[in-house]
Amino acid sequence: MSKVVISCLCSAAKQTVVLSRTNESTSGPWGVDLCHCYDCRHSSGLLCVSYAPIRVPPSLNGLVAYPDESAQPSTTASQRYFCSTCGCHVFRYYSTVGDEEIGKSWEVATGTIIAQVSVVDDDKSVEGDGGEEESLLLRYARHVNTDSTKDGGLSPFIRLAGGTEPSKKRSQVINQSGGGDSKDIILEAHCRCKTVRFYITRPDASSRLPRSPFSDLIVPTATSPREIIDNPRDEKWWLRPQGRDNPDLTRYMAGTCACRSCRLAAGFEVQAWAFVPRSNIFFLPPAASSSSSSSSTHPPPPPPSDISSHALPLDFPTLQQTYSPLRTYESSPGVFREFCPRCGASVFWHDRWRPDVVDVSVGLLAADEGARAERWLDWWRGRVSFQEDAGDGRVGGAARWGRNVVGTLAEGLRGWEEEDGMVGR
Ligand SMILES: [Zn+2]
Ligand SMILES: [Zn+2]
Ligand SMILES: [Zn+2]
Repeated sequence: MSKVVISCLCSAAKQTVVLSRTNESTSGPWGVDLCHCYDCRHSSGLLCVSYAPIRVPPSLNGLVAYPDESAQPSTTASQRYFCSTCGCHVFRYYSTVGDEEIGKSWEVATGTIIAQVSVVDDDKSVEGDGGEEESLLLRYARHVNTDSTKDGGLSPFIRLAGGTEPSKKRSQVINQSGGGDSKDIILEAHCRCKTVRFYITRPDASSRLPRSPFSDLIVPTATSPREIIDNPRDEKWWLRPQGRDNPDLTRYMAGTCACRSCRLAAGFEVQAWAFVPRSNIFFLPPAASSSSSSSSTHPPPPPPSDISSHALPLDFPTLQQTYSPLRTYESSPGVFREFCPRCGASVFWHDRWRPDVVDVSVGLLAADEGARAERWLDWWRGRVSFQEDAGDGRVGGAARWGRNVVGTLAEGLRGWEEEDGMVGR
């Protein structure tokens, strides 16, 4: 048994929980699955999530429960718990059909684990960070539910130790010219409960108007001079050519982030952001609540004419007065993170210095070609944003695990770039 300290970004969920082995081996890092399913993506806003089994947690104070009604067929009831203040996913609970031995299970979102406080080996207790200097607290055992992503989501970038090479599916449709149907004009996005519904339009003249410093994804904050980060030549780095043969700027930049604040706002190690001008984002009224518990499939988007008659351009004050679909957490002065108050999905990151280019949580996108939405997004493979900070806010085996995950991801991204012959920028 191992006790770990967990926390969300605002610290409301901070507490100590006990990791419990299921039927795995009794030593070494805990194996956890990296789930890429529809429910996990749309309730987190991320492309994949991981949970570790725990004993009943001491406190659910400050957490909101969202029922995961279309969970795995082997379970009857499943609930995800997220922080009502900062949106961080903290726990998942489910009861299993017809197996009294397993019965009710609790899991903790792995990104919330900040420290390992003790190791209990049978009846011996060892204070410290978890034993051997180099041990990892956790390891990814399997990629699960990758089929629903169509393109593998982030799985091709995250190689598992001792695992098989994930298939490097690429969307085959990227270089086809757009056929003029609505799916080429708008990209729908929604959270799991569909309180948050919006769509993105293709880059247009308005997309070039914002000014923005470079993202840490492209110019690392830690090692770059301020005058370069500030983007003095006013490059529109969020707009990307669609493939080498098509120089039109028809896609948006997307990438992964490993900073402490993204991790603790989401509850998981890897956030995935698309950088989209605010002028290309339009909100739709929340879906009627009766439909939120049903399908796991993507409903066909209504035609654009119907959509646009209800759509609101993304202006945060107006949006909150009209549909109020978002809860905002100011994670540091002037920096805002929006999430769904009902299902806890991460939705946006933006700040007051760059109000017109918004980070959009990629897990919400409902692109026909797959979870990575490669007809819309160009993935930055040169690095993981804030990859140097992957162990920040964590100690011991939890910090090593965090650095291990992000190192693996950064390597996977670079490897694919080389194999692909694509230039990163
Ligand atoms: Zn919180
Ligand atoms: Zn899942
Ligand atoms: Zn929601």
